[in-house]
Amino acid sequence: MGLTLYQKIWNSHKVAKGPGGRTLLYIDRHLLHDGSFHGFEALRNGGRKPRRPEAAFATPDHYVPTRNRANIEQADLREKIAALSANAAATGIKIYPVGDDRQGIVHLVGPEQGISQPGITLVCGDSHTSTHGAMGALAFGIGASEVAHVLATQTLWQASTKTLRVNVSGILKPGVFAKDLILALIAKIGAYGGSGYTLEYAGPAIRALSMEARMTVCNMSIEAGARAGLIAPDDSCFNYLHGRPQAPHGADWELALAAWRKLPSDVDACFDAEVDLDAAAIEPMVTWGTSPEHGISVSAALPDPALQQDPVRRAGMEKAMRYMALHPGQRIEGLAIDRVFIGSCTNSRLEDLRAAAAIARGRQALVPALVVPGSGLVKLAAEAEGLDRIFIDAGFDWREPGCSMCVGMNGDLVEAGQRCASTSNRNFEGRQGRDARTHLMSPAMAAAAAVTGRITDPRRLQAAAGRP
Ligand code: SF4
Repeated sequence: MGLTLYQKIWNSHKVAKGPGGRTLLYIDRHLLHDGSFHGFEALRNGGRKPRRPEAAFATPDHYVPTRNRANIEQADLREKIAALSANAAATGIKIYPVGDDRQGIVHLVGPEQGISQPGITLVCGDSHTSTHGAMGALAFGIGASEVAHVLATQTLWQASTKTLRVNVSGILKPGVFAKDLILALIAKIGAYGGSGYTLEYAGPAIRALSMEARMTVCNMSIEAGARAGLIAPDDSCFNYLHGRPQAPHGADWELALAAWRKLPSDVDACFDAEVDLDAAAIEPMVTWGTSPEHGISVSAALPDPALQQDPVRRAGMEKAMRYMALHPGQRIEGLAIDRVFIGSCTNSRLEDLRAAAAIARGRQALVPALVVPGSGLVKLAAEAEGLDRIFIDAGFDWREPGCSMCVGMNGDLVEAGQRCASTSNRNFEGRQGRDARTHLMSPAMAAAAAVTGRITDPRRLQAAAGRP
C-alpha cells in the first residue's frame, strides 16, 4: 500500500521509539517569536544551549505596536521585544527584529524567507504553525517546555496522528475566497472534526489556489481541531520558493526539487477518513457565534439551537447567541458592526490586501477600520502598488506589521460590547478584548463591512462598481 504525504514526512524524521507509542522526531526548523521567552528561560535554567541555532529563526510579532515603534512607550511591550533580541543574540539565533523589513508575523516570515519547505518538520510555540503545511511541511504548534526541548535537542517526542483527506472538488466562484472555503469546512465538520488527525487538503479547488490562499486554508486547520494541515507541494509551491533567501540554491535546489516531487501522497495511499466539499457550492461565509464552527453563508439566517440534537452543542449555541447579542432566525447580512480588523496570520498577505482594497477603492469607511500587513515585506509590496493610498483615502488606518487586533497583546483591542468584522481566525469570547464580539470573514467582506457599517456580501459592492 502507498504512503500519504504525512506518513512520508513522519517516516523520514523518526529518530527513536519511546514509551506509550511515542516517537522521537527530528525537527528541521524552529520558529520563535516574542512569546517564546519561557522556552529560552527553561533552556537557560537547565544550563543548555541550542543544539542547532542555525535551524532556528526569530521575529517579534505578538507584542509589537503597530505604530510609533521607534520609541515604544509601554514598558511591558518594550521588554518582551527586547528579551527576544537578547535571547537571539545570546544563542546565535537569526532574528528579524523590529525595524528590519523582514519582521512580521512568524507565519508569514517563514514562507517569505523560504524557511518553510516541503517535506520538513517545522515547529513554533504558536497554534497557527499549521500555516506552513501549505508548503508541504509537517508543521505544528508546541508548548513552552517543548520549545526548550527542541532548542536543546532538535528533536521532539510526538504521537502520530491519523490522516483525514479533505477532497475539495469544483472551483470557487468569483467573490468567494480561501477564507470562505475553510470556514465552510469547519462549519461542516465542526471545531473538533479534525481532532486526532492531520488534514491533507486535495482536489482541483485546492490545486487552483495560490500559495497565499493555501496558507489561509492550512492556517485554520487548528480551528477544526486538527494537529496540522498539509497540501502536497506542486509547481505553484516550487515557483513560490525558488530564489527565497533560506531556500536551497544552485545544485542543492535541483536535489531538493527531485526529493520534493516524490512527496505527494501515493495514488494507492490509504487515509483514515475522508471528507468531500464542493467549492462551487460555497458562498461568502461569516461566523455568528464564538466558535469557528459557527459559520454560515452571509445570505443565511442564524440557526435555531432548539433544533440541535446534541445537548452540548445546543448549550454552546445558546451561550454564544447570548454573548453575541443575537437570536435564532436573525439575518446575519445587514447586522451593524462597530469596527473592522484586516490582518492576522490568516489574512494579511498581499493577495488579501488587494482583495480588501478592491472593495475600499473610491469608498469611505463608516466605522474605524484597521489594516495591518502581516510583514514588512507585505507592507512594502502593498505600498509599491499604492494599496496604502487606497486604504488611507478611504479612511482606513494603515499600520505597521504584527499580530495586532487578532489577539490584542500589543494593546490594539476591541472595546467591550463592540462588534468587530475581523479577518483573523478565532472568535472566542474575549479574544479581541474583554466582552468584544468577533465575526470572522474574508478580507473582501471585512472591507465591505467597513464601507457599509454592516455585514455585507462583498459581491454586491463588486457588482455595484461594475468590477469583476
Ligand atoms: S496573528 Fe493571531 S493567530 Fe496568528 S500568530 Fe499572531 S496572535 Fe496567533
